[in-house]
Amino acid sequence: MKKADKILLTVITLSAVLILAGGFIYRSCCKRASAVEVWVSDEKMQSYPLDMDGVYEITTAEGHNTLKIEKGEARIIDADCPGGDCMKMKIDQNGGSIICLPHKLSIIPDRVAAEGTDAVTR
Ligand SMILES: [Zn+2]
Repeated sequence: MKKADKILLTVITLSAVLILAGGFIYRSCCKRASAVEVWVSDEKMQSYPLDMDGVYEITTAEGHNTLKIEKGEARIIDADCPGGDCMKMKIDQNGGSIICLPHKLSIIPDRVAAEGTDAVTR
């Protein structure tokens, strides 16, 4: 392959990557989450709408967390894990995630989950 060809190929590849990345950023910025999904280990347990206030008890084999959804925001208000790091995290319609490592629990906005599935099937 000639040097000029290599440069051309690099430029084409870079533009393609930029276009793809641009599309991804555009989609993630403008699509709002409507629900949160509760995952334990790698299994989806439940999903809760973000536009409906509520308090949900989540009990896993590892422990217990209380999820509160209020005014479009989700947070953990009570947990029996050591450290309680999950109580410092929150999700709102723009994103975020709540991870409770000791309980193998993760709570993510549904649009993130949908993009994750996209990436797998693509
Ligand atoms: Zn926790």
